Amino acid sequence: MQRLASIGVLSIALLLLAGCREEKTPPPPAPRPVYVDSPQFTGTNAYLHCHDICALGPRLSDSPAYAAQLDYLAKHLRAAGWTVHRDTFRVGNVGMTNLRAVKTKSPGTSPPLLLSCHIDTKRGIAPDFESADDGASGAAVLLELARVLPPELSEQVELIFLDGEESFAPRMSETDGLYGSRFDVARRAGVLPRYQINLDMVGGRNKIIAPPSLDTSDFMYAHYMASIRELGFNPERWTVWPGSYMDDHLPYLEAGVDSLNLIAVFTGSSWWHTTGDNMKRICPHSLEESGRITLHLIRRLLGQQ
Ligand SMILES: [Zn+2]
Repeated sequence: MQRLASIGVLSIALLLLAGCREEKTPPPPAPRPVYVDSPQFTGTNAYLHCHDICALGPRLSDSPAYAAQLDYLAKHLRAAGWTVHRDTFRVGNVGMTNLRAVKTKSPGTSPPLLLSCHIDTKRGIAPDFESADDGASGAAVLLELARVLPPELSEQVELIFLDGEESFAPRMSETDGLYGSRFDVARRAGVLPRYQINLDMVGGRNKIIAPPSLDTSDFMYAHYMASIRELGFNPERWTVWPGSYMDDHLPYLEAGVDSLNLIAVFTGSSWWHTTGDNMKRICPHSLEESGRITLHLIRRLLGQQ
């Protein structure tokens, strides 16, 4: 983790300028960059959140690192004016916690739009597994969104950081995995949001984001494609996966929520669920694109543009 702490302003500026298209020669040590105080979604800020979360070590459910991550998230959410709730539950002898944040002034109601990501780390990989993209990147984007969402949007949005997305067994199955999202859908007892946007693996350099077509309604697909067009994003890097994924959108989708899973293509990759999923793969520009399109989708879905 010392290596991560030495990444500086210069390297981030270079990454942003280069669009993270290639890995640079490691820069000389530089002071740790500071958070950018801007009203815009800033990739550098999301990058710093991702770095700080990874520095906690693997965030396995029910571990001290997971608890420290909850405290980190809660601290930044409260600083941005959000009310934070922790929902605890058990899976066998493992304690799990979803963390939710709202700004709504109407307690007991469900804001129409749920933004979700998972924050647990896959078990059994390695003691130094950073789980940077598959775990930390979504939380990093949500934290930066929490900072910049204007009041007319934030009061209609709920944020949820989900535990237990990863299975205990090496591979996910119908009965192993998605514990946090399944618990949350059941907890709501039918009082569900209208829309959900789930973010998973949204910070890798050269990523290709591809929501699963079989899990995406025509309505959400239209908003997704219009957002890509309006933002001028590369349609070859913002596309659709011809199939379905088991991910945290599914329990909501099955309960009738209109869901969109913003997820990078990861099958067949050399880094997924390996120590290769580390901060070297993460790129401020990539995080910034993910944040910008999520913000754009929020505005479209809530009729703010
Ligand atoms: Zn995973």
